[in-house]
Amino acid sequence: NLQTTKELTNGVKMPMLGLGVYKMTDRDETLQAITTALDLGYRAVDTAALYYNEEEVGEAIKHSSVPREDIFVTTKVWNSDQGYDNTLRAFEISLKKLDMDYIDLYLTHWPVKEKYVETYRAIERLYEEKLIRVPGVSNHHEHHLKDILASCNIAPMVNQIEVHPYLSQESLRNYCAQEQIAVTAWSPLGRGNVLNDDTIVRIAHEYNVTPAQIILRWHLQNDVIIIPKSVTPSRIKENSELYHFELTKETMQQLNAVNRNERFGQNPDNFKFDF
Ligand code: NAD
Repeated sequence: NLQTTKELTNGVKMPMLGLGVYKMTDRDETLQAITTALDLGYRAVDTAALYYNEEEVGEAIKHSSVPREDIFVTTKVWNSDQGYDNTLRAFEISLKKLDMDYIDLYLTHWPVKEKYVETYRAIERLYEEKLIRVPGVSNHHEHHLKDILASCNIAPMVNQIEVHPYLSQESLRNYCAQEQIAVTAWSPLGRGNVLNDDTIVRIAHEYNVTPAQIILRWHLQNDVIIIPKSVTPSRIKENSELYHFELTKETMQQLNAVNRNERFGQNPDNFKFDF
């Protein structure tokens, strides 16, 4: 009985599934991937200023048959634009590139030292001005969230972090649940690196679905929002077919045990800018 949306603390319903568009740099490929996803029933797109495809995201949404207000758009302020005034300016640029009058969810991309509290303060202001429907953060550890919660008026409603079977993030997810902060998994498929794992392949055979579907379903049953990336129509479809089977408690435990605390991305505490 899983929900296809998650109700956030302000009542906004965020889709549990969205299309991630990181590394979609080819214009036609990006337009095609988003159009395919919307046609298949996806109702969320996850982009960022860093991805250099906000224009294509806006264009694909504008030309789709799905009304703008039915699509949940996330974008993020990049590290070099952080701080209060810079964030407000970066937001204006993103809004213009997307060619929209509001954004659903705006996130601090990474917690830049000595700036992330101020960056979030700007995001709060955008929320108060109704330019965004949901304020949030990304790549924030518990200690970053504590700093923000100590000073903000409106708590972040989403934290987008790296989560996949090799990095299950149980403790941070529990902390977020306790603070009513929804968790979105980035690299939910571990960038593809987890798909050949023996346990996952075995479970996929058992359920007669693909390894990607097993992993994505595991996220959903953990109450984690997913934004898998693909430009391949058959995979975009496969990644959305997650409601015709259910993992048992035993299978969930077996998948939880696959964790190795292994990151494929950077650790937010020692982020290197030059990647
Ligand atoms: P992912 O885990 O979604 O893996 C994507 C890769 O897996 C694809 O390139 C494809 O090769 C493969 N794949 C996808 N579906 C498949 C399928 N059904 N079968 C086989 N292979 C499949 O990794 P990602 O792109 O790093 O993460 C997803 C999204 O998360 C990004 O597009 C972006 O929107 C977001 N993200 C955010 C941050 C952040 O710092 N906030 C960082 C990285 C990614």
